[in-house]
Amino acid sequence: MVVLRALLLLVLLQGAVRAEEGKWTPPQVLEFNPGTLQAMGLRIPPEEIWSPSKGTGLLSAAVNIGGCSASFVSATGLIATNHHCIFGILQEHSSTDNNIIRDGFLARTRQQELPSRTTRVTVPLAFTDVTEDIERAATGASDDLARYRAISRRQKELVAACESKPHRRCRLSQFDGGVQYILQEMMELPDVRLVYAPPRAIGEYGGGGGKWVWAPPTGDFGIARAYVSPSGEPAEYSPNNVPYLPQRFLQISQKPLRDGDFVMVLGYPGVTYRSLLAKEMEERRDLFFQRRVDLYGEWIELLNAMSREDEKGGIAVAADLKTLLNRHKNAQGQLDGFRRGSLVEKHREMEDRVATWAADRPEWSRAVAARSELLHHFEERLVTWERDFLFDNIAAGSKALYWATVLVQMVQEREKPDMERPEAFMERNLPRFTTLLHRQQKSYFEAADQQLFASWIRRARNLPVSQRIRAVDKFFPASMTEEQVRDAIQQLYHNSRVTDLDSRNQMIRESVDSLRKRQDPLLQFAWELEAQLADFREASHRWEGTVSRLRPQWRKAVMAYAGKPVAPDANGTLRVSFAHVKGYSPRDGVYYQPFTTLRGVLEKHTGKDPFDAPETLRNAARNVEHSRWKDQELGELAVNFLATGDTTGGNSGSPVVNGYGELVGLNFDRVWENVANDFGYNPAIARNVSVDIRYLLWTLEEIDKATELLGELQVAPATTQP
Ligand code: ASP
Repeated sequence: MVVLRALLLLVLLQGAVRAEEGKWTPPQVLEFNPGTLQAMGLRIPPEEIWSPSKGTGLLSAAVNIGGCSASFVSATGLIATNHHCIFGILQEHSSTDNNIIRDGFLARTRQQELPSRTTRVTVPLAFTDVTEDIERAATGASDDLARYRAISRRQKELVAACESKPHRRCRLSQFDGGVQYILQEMMELPDVRLVYAPPRAIGEYGGGGGKWVWAPPTGDFGIARAYVSPSGEPAEYSPNNVPYLPQRFLQISQKPLRDGDFVMVLGYPGVTYRSLLAKEMEERRDLFFQRRVDLYGEWIELLNAMSREDEKGGIAVAADLKTLLNRHKNAQGQLDGFRRGSLVEKHREMEDRVATWAADRPEWSRAVAARSELLHHFEERLVTWERDFLFDNIAAGSKALYWATVLVQMVQEREKPDMERPEAFMERNLPRFTTLLHRQQKSYFEAADQQLFASWIRRARNLPVSQRIRAVDKFFPASMTEEQVRDAIQQLYHNSRVTDLDSRNQMIRESVDSLRKRQDPLLQFAWELEAQLADFREASHRWEGTVSRLRPQWRKAVMAYAGKPVAPDANGTLRVSFAHVKGYSPRDGVYYQPFTTLRGVLEKHTGKDPFDAPETLRNAARNVEHSRWKDQELGELAVNFLATGDTTGGNSGSPVVNGYGELVGLNFDRVWENVANDFGYNPAIARNVSVDIRYLLWTLEEIDKATELLGELQVAPATTQP
């Protein structure tokens, strides 16, 4: 009997170890053996995490906020997320006179909360598997481009049907290249307001989320609130709107979080690459991340230099600069991880093992053929790689270039029937798109933008003969000197109306003809570019069609070989990661403790960015000894903690909950050694970084005296605490 029980425990624990690898979809969570999850530390039934029939459960409190993750934390629509996830709202309202990026913000009344033009929150309602439906739609397509088009048409139909219900926002997501297609039904709340953000020197202490260092220690938190119309429906901003009452919100844990505790990270991880072939990973390693380091490195230097000279310009480019810094550092981390973990080599070994296994089994012969064909098409795409990289990075650089190209594309697409346009230009997305173009004006700093434009042109002029961009050759021929190019760019800007918000708003509504007639020089350049961009987009669509036909066949063989549940790659959809609070050893002889504390904040304080702790914090820290948020075991106030969560970019702001589903932290990062986990999971270094919820509560209580806000979070006043 004892032996049997021990055996059972062993089986469950092995399952538990497996469950730590993977970002599981809500339906997958329910497929787990409940005993396995219990053995890990789950204290609520798995159905409490997600109820597919009702669209309720813990996960319904986990929402998406502009590409980040977040959660409802009060009955009155309060949303907790990272400071760096609400940075856009801070920027919207910051000026040199009222620099809330630097100073932080607290609304003491609802009237003081700051609305945002662009931040929206989506709440998950249902997930429906529509794989068969999509496959049926693609059957008989004459080639891969036709296949792509058939899939995308069916996708739009499904989304339109789903959105015919009032106030729905729906999205079809492809998992691992088409192994599965899931239709997600969500509710979108467009009125989101800023309630609280700490000063930058707390929210980004040590550099902020996306630095991938342990131990920061950072207060990467912020609070927003969602509003709805007085009748309770999602609505655009109006002063008459009322706080949204979420169906489910997370309770803040009253139990101290400790080393070894079970936690779950709920959120919306963006992109990972574990289902790629080794050859495709090689492209990420040898081209994609290398070029990113180079390109973004140059742009960062440029923006930094310009910001130093001009404070207003500095505020304008702050959010873009932050994104670039984040991507740049991330790319470096991926490269570092590739080298250290020999990720491509390991993946290739695994792939070869599957291929050998499949070769012996006739039922998998199609999978083997699919892999070879995929490789063949992939190699073909490499021929114009450098040029395509520049095309792909138009949106990340000069706004003038981006606006001009997007206007040209938009007016053409708008002349087509709605269902034939790319998603971004469909009627349902236009309001959002125009708001984005509007908001981007706030980030526009002409002097810097011209330099970004020049950098893109210079790179385009250096492309090999076989990958030339015709528009660049025409407007900036090889005979021009660098100085002449600079002058020509200045003239383009000078004579164009594209960078003027009102003109741009006008242009968006124009016909192709009237836009052409304007003879705006930037637009003329963009028209010229568009001819090649259209071919580039078509080639990408064809490739997507190829992937959807071939990758699923290969992935199914990989999964059959694994013989265990495999979580699909991240794709921006809601996932759960099961984890434990745990330190790690980054290198020989070194062990990183799982908690950082307020002591670390003070120890690191230099008075200079990024370690310039505000005086208010340093004063409050003198009394931390008596704070109810201090951890008795640590003898300190916990600030950040490490756990074994399998996370990635997009997981920022993810609620981290304990075995009872109570909020214990907010995820904001991974450790440096783990940045390349996007390509493979390594339990020894798989650590995510979260801010401990007690640090947020302490800050609100001791620094900001935010009594009302704490009350809304159901935190009783200090005196009534035992
Ligand atoms: N900092 C990332 C984010 O913004 C999280 C991560 O890379 O782990 O989503």
